[in-house]
Amino acid sequence: MEVAAVEGLMQDYELSLQHVLWRVERLHQNKEVVTKRDEGIHRTTYGEMVPRINRLAGALKRIGVKPGDRVATLAWNNNRHLELYYAIPCMGAVLHTLNLRLFPQHLEFIINDAADKVLFVDQTLLPLLKPLLGKIPTIETIVLMAEPGAPPPEGMPQMLDYESLLAAESDSYPWPKLSERMAAAMCYTSGTTGNPKGVVYSHRSQFIHTMGVLQLDNLGLGSNDVLLPVVPMFHANSWGLPYAAGMAGSKVVFLGRFSADAKSIVELAEQEDATYLAGVPTIWIGLAGYLKETGKRLPKVRTVVCGGSAVPQALMETMDSLGLHILHAWGMTETSPLGSVARVPADTKPEDELRLRLTQGRVTPGVEIRITDPTSGEELPWDGVAFGEIQVRGPWIARGYHNGYDPDKLTEDGWFRTGDVAKISPEGYIQIVDRTKDVIKSGGEWISSVELENAVMAHPKILEAAVIGLPHARWDERPVVYAVARPEFKGQVGEDEIKEFLKGKVAKWWVPDEVRFIDEVPKTSVGKFDKKVLRANAVPIKEGVKEEARK
Ligand code: AMP
Repeated sequence: MEVAAVEGLMQDYELSLQHVLWRVERLHQNKEVVTKRDEGIHRTTYGEMVPRINRLAGALKRIGVKPGDRVATLAWNNNRHLELYYAIPCMGAVLHTLNLRLFPQHLEFIINDAADKVLFVDQTLLPLLKPLLGKIPTIETIVLMAEPGAPPPEGMPQMLDYESLLAAESDSYPWPKLSERMAAAMCYTSGTTGNPKGVVYSHRSQFIHTMGVLQLDNLGLGSNDVLLPVVPMFHANSWGLPYAAGMAGSKVVFLGRFSADAKSIVELAEQEDATYLAGVPTIWIGLAGYLKETGKRLPKVRTVVCGGSAVPQALMETMDSLGLHILHAWGMTETSPLGSVARVPADTKPEDELRLRLTQGRVTPGVEIRITDPTSGEELPWDGVAFGEIQVRGPWIARGYHNGYDPDKLTEDGWFRTGDVAKISPEGYIQIVDRTKDVIKSGGEWISSVELENAVMAHPKILEAAVIGLPHARWDERPVVYAVARPEFKGQVGEDEIKEFLKGKVAKWWVPDEVRFIDEVPKTSVGKFDKKVLRANAVPIKEGVKEEARK
């Protein structure tokens, strides 16, 4: 029997960030927004911010910003950046957060590719903008977010002043009716290969992603939390946390330009009673060292979201011993970024807990995942053994890039190819093996650079380790470790000790050909190990010397 289609009788309510702003205004007036600045702590509330957001929207309109125009920000995590997060998308334009750690030529490419019309810049970041002047023709207006008391900048073209612009506008703005499919924000991938590509989030995707972030079994941020996002506001919208905080009504604490400094993180977290931190592993490696050194602790912090790279076991254990609970999450700019979270069910045996927390977790509600064979494209079983490329689909997953780059990223049947290689257990726990481009092919077999790095970082004298595959005449590629000794063991740990340590922990043929000690692992613009730089500068393997090890 054929079933007649009957329409549901629910409202066609457009999902947009205006709803988040509505909640901020109506429900969370008293919640604080705190920023560390050079001259001290800046303190405001959502209630005080809302009229400023309205004024900012008025100013954007006055300087000619129209729906769909890209408005770029070159800014730290701070209260003005949060105002821009709301005003730009809610008035119909597109918030384009620029990564302030990129080289000038990348910034130039990105601004031109996005055809940004207006650029908001923090005064301390003007030196980054200077080399771009004359090379970014689409920018019609630059707005300076000046530091109070700082001298006016020299050698810059005419710029508008943020506070003067706001002062000239009204406390209320007639927010336009938006369609949920409209672009709200834009972020570029970090461009580890080739030029960065623009990911364009819609109001709908941001709204649903925000709801996803808030779920208890996902990132679970709540109204009683005090959020301190170390992750920059330009890295995949700070993992969606600023909007989640606005939706839930969490107090927010920003580090301004002090985000890379463990002492500042700890002091600010202590002072503002932070309960919820978020950032990449390298941040927590530094923070753990500082806590151990000073004997300080952060007992109010209940969650430390850690993603962007795999969490090394040694880091998870150290943080546990310091009373800081890491919540491991996986995602990418193209997935808004939340893709999976490693929550452990209550009935898990204690001896299995750590192992599950170290996986990339289970795919988040709203997103579907599969792994496929790289050659045949066939879907692989979730048996914890077979590994292949992760593909995902869902309402906050990209279907393409701005300007149509890389159309092959979407499979014919509509799944996004992530470029991450993983296995999935029957219970759905994802274990990332590597990026497709980082996996080491040795004698026809694969070596996971991620697993090898984790094994090396478990050595008590090692602080950081990155592994790359280098060409080898006989084996095609062989692993080489770049290791950084903990400061107290500098010069006191050698190649043989590491290799000896690895025996029995990894397959014999995974034991690296060489362990090279360096002072610091180069980092990408978002704080991940930059293997591209290691590869570019790597001297070839000394072949023939250590053949025995691989037999
Ligand atoms: P980005 O777009 O800069 O955030 O980079 C996304 C990439 O970072 C992913 O495709 C992964 O390769 C890597 N990544 C993110 N989170 C994790 C994680 N928890 N474990 C391993 N790799 C990760």
